[in-house]
Amino acid sequence: MSYDDNKGFSKNCYVGRKDYIPDMIVLHSTPSFVKGVNNFYDETKEVSAHFIINNDGDVKQIVSLDDSAWANGTSLNQDSDVYYRFAKNEIVKNRDYNANYYTFSIEHVSVDGELTDEQYASSKEVIKKIIKYIKEKYDYDFIIDDKHIVGHRDVNPIVRTVCPGNKFPMDRIIKELQEEI
Ligand SMILES: [Zn+2]
Repeated sequence: MSYDDNKGFSKNCYVGRKDYIPDMIVLHSTPSFVKGVNNFYDETKEVSAHFIINNDGDVKQIVSLDDSAWANGTSLNQDSDVYYRFAKNEIVKNRDYNANYYTFSIEHVSVDGELTDEQYASSKEVIKKIIKYIKEKYDYDFIIDDKHIVGHRDVNPIVRTVCPGNKFPMDRIIKELQEEI
């Protein structure tokens, strides 16, 4: 299986951010790079992420940072599995609008959240790039903590009980970012 690397950004996104300042980063895992990329360009699947990071640390951007990827949406419908009040993260739980508008999403190719050294380094670089972008575009200082850098499971706990996986180095990456920025 392969993928077309010359497609530009995916159409699977909302253009822009409505009037929201994106102030959270959501981390994900997905088992296959090629399958993930193909899904993110497949308009019938209606899913995407801003970035996907392969095991060798290779980063592919799928959606522009100006736009809202379809990775971790929340719904205002109480009957929905992704109803925003189900969120474990307090910020998400208190915002009655779709979380895709105010988040950046990063996929990591991993089964259980364990990252290779190359992947971990790339993930940190991508997060730094996003933080810099937020400052430049919105003149907003991103808050580096476990309320603003979260796992998918914190946003959509019913449909994603483990994403990005139990072995994802969440504490380590937040701590190092706090030290390095
Ligand atoms: Zn996820």
